[in-house]
Amino acid sequence: MNEDRFPVRDRVIEPAFPLTFPIFQTASYSIPEGERYRYGREANPTVEELERQISIYERTEKTVCFSSGMGAISTSLFQLLKPGDRIVTTIDTFARSSRLISGFLKKWGIIPTISAPGTEALLSNITENCTVFLESISNPLLRVYDIRRIAERVHSLGGKLICDSTFSTPENMNAHDLGADLVINSLSKFIAGHNDVIGGSASGDGELVQEIDNLRRTVGTNMDPNTAYLSLRGLKTLSLRMKEINKNGISVARNLQTVDKIKNVNYPGLDTHPDYEYSKKVLKGYGGVMTFDIEGISGKQNELFKALSLIQPANTLGSVNSVISHPKTMSHRSLSADELAMVHVSDNTFRLSVGIEDSESIIEDLKVAIRSVI
Ligand code: PLP
Repeated sequence: MNEDRFPVRDRVIEPAFPLTFPIFQTASYSIPEGERYRYGREANPTVEELERQISIYERTEKTVCFSSGMGAISTSLFQLLKPGDRIVTTIDTFARSSRLISGFLKKWGIIPTISAPGTEALLSNITENCTVFLESISNPLLRVYDIRRIAERVHSLGGKLICDSTFSTPENMNAHDLGADLVINSLSKFIAGHNDVIGGSASGDGELVQEIDNLRRTVGTNMDPNTAYLSLRGLKTLSLRMKEINKNGISVARNLQTVDKIKNVNYPGLDTHPDYEYSKKVLKGYGGVMTFDIEGISGKQNELFKALSLIQPANTLGSVNSVISHPKTMSHRSLSADELAMVHVSDNTFRLSVGIEDSESIIEDLKVAIRSVI
């Protein structure tokens, strides 16, 4: 059987041999036979099946799952770093990850460096033994990082590279193949894919992931079995959904460039994007997320949201339904005015995550709503 192609078959288990791996809704396990799982915070068979399947998809030895993407990021960084260590990330990293690094970790004696966006700037900040944390496609600038070059530099200086692959998913890129030591996914987005799950994963070589798993058991950032079940279901259609989302992404982004009042359409699949040439080489698809400015909309984002009938306004992305957000007042509200300027977020900026609807309907919905508000 070729296990590299998704969806893979769920593991069939005794005594009932179900085709779909079941939810093991139990807090603990009977001793001595259940000693391998011991207690629900330590391990759960449904979560283990999800970890097995994500490892196959991410082409890594091992995966451990968490209660959220941030659970995956924080537990991994707590395990990898100690006081006096340096961590390098970029200004365009997801705001919560940024806060964790430049706020919380700094308080505990870890030295953060926040690089300007883009591969060259990041490369120039890598020093001996540092840990680099980047996003395969960054949120919200959508910069695509040259993971291969960054990994070579990090490894030659004795450090480690962590890649948050939430925006690309293993369908569009395998960051471990490109040299990342640890690949993080927020399963809350494209992987589970239906706006009904909060979960995360960290994948990499066995020993490294086992150390992170051991800390997860201690800090209790474990995934619950229902979330694992829904994420397993999401994995079965990830490939199909991403094909449709990639197709819609490029079509909607190109079309938005021609819409009156829409400016600065930013999407890795457009030849105006600063990393377009590199994106073509490294991504199988450009994904579903784009940003753009709407001229004259300042202060009227809620009116725009109310005028939309297909696209849903929400603090998330990566679902079968198209979702729009206003980064300045939503995901990136904790950034200072200077930081917002650096990530090109203004009052007029919106982030759109296209779903699997018909692309013309997505564009029409936006056009009608813009016309009704300005
Ligand atoms: N990484 C990226 C790129 C994200 O956009 C997010 C959330 O939006 C996260 C991580 C955090 O994931 P979660 O919401 O599952 O904690």
